[in-house]
Amino acid sequence: MRIDLHTHSTASDGTQSPADVIASAAQAGLDVVALTDHDTSSGWQEATAAADRLGLRLVPGVEISCLLRGVSVHLLSYLHDPEDPVLVGMLAESRASRVGRARQMVERLTPDTGLRWDDVLEQVHGAATIGRPHIADALVARGVVTDRDEAFATLLSGRSKYFVPQTAPDPVEAVRRVRRAGGVPVVAHPAASKRGCCIADSEIEAMAEAGMAGLEVDHRDHSDGERAHLRDLARDLDLFITGSSDYHGAGKQNRLGENTTDPESLERLDALAVSTRAVHPLP
Ligand code: AMP
Ligand code: ZN
Ligand code: FE
Ligand code: FE
Repeated sequence: MRIDLHTHSTASDGTQSPADVIASAAQAGLDVVALTDHDTSSGWQEATAAADRLGLRLVPGVEISCLLRGVSVHLLSYLHDPEDPVLVGMLAESRASRVGRARQMVERLTPDTGLRWDDVLEQVHGAATIGRPHIADALVARGVVTDRDEAFATLLSGRSKYFVPQTAPDPVEAVRRVRRAGGVPVVAHPAASKRGCCIADSEIEAMAEAGMAGLEVDHRDHSDGERAHLRDLARDLDLFITGSSDYHGAGKQNRLGENTTDPESLERLDALAVSTRAVHPLP
């Protein structure tokens, strides 16, 4: 059984529609795929329908933006109630903050690049969660950079003078809210040192005490040493581990199924999920 628990669609900053992500997952030989768009569950219904047609299992999820000491932490939530008012409110606040933050970044970029807010909006599908990848796409369309990678390495990097952080909830609080919504929280790429982060072991332990259930260990942004360390930490804290692609379609080099999750971890995830509304959201 091939299981990939972290992908993005045009509901946030991926380049394929939710249905196309599922079709690509089927082509890649996956049996189980999670759709985990940033701060939104708007792709769930389309993805669930596509998975039903193609005979895959769709695990509905969200990648929740959090901030800790000013460092960005991504919390994956699986199988929560998509109607839970507290979680829904928290995600709506994050999306709103992302819009304000993206507008500020564009204001800083305009004098040097000519980039306008309308250029960015042209890159965003409907009500998708906006992010730096959309600003990157607008810079590509203007011919300022050649691709998202170049944009992130230069103008959009966290160290760039054009960078503005978004506001986002504390990860421990987000863990509590996910659990109250019947979902299963897993820290995404906890050791991705390439991104100039990272969360300390003691901070992961505090999240585990609040109900965090798993660690995403096998991810392309983790070195072998980081994976070994995270495996030990997961064992010490009795957390399950996952492996995932963090697929963004053509927007990143990550390929579906490049890292996968053991069926035993998915069993533990399923056993912790309490919401019955996740797989078949209310109309
Ligand atoms: P934001 O959420 O607006 O802070 O932007 C971060 C998002 O950009 C994450 O989802 C990353 O997957 C994506 N990202 C980071 N680096 C790159 C890159 N080099 N190329 C494409 N996307 C990237
Ligand atoms: Zn992304
Ligand atoms: Fe992430
Ligand atoms: Fe992601």
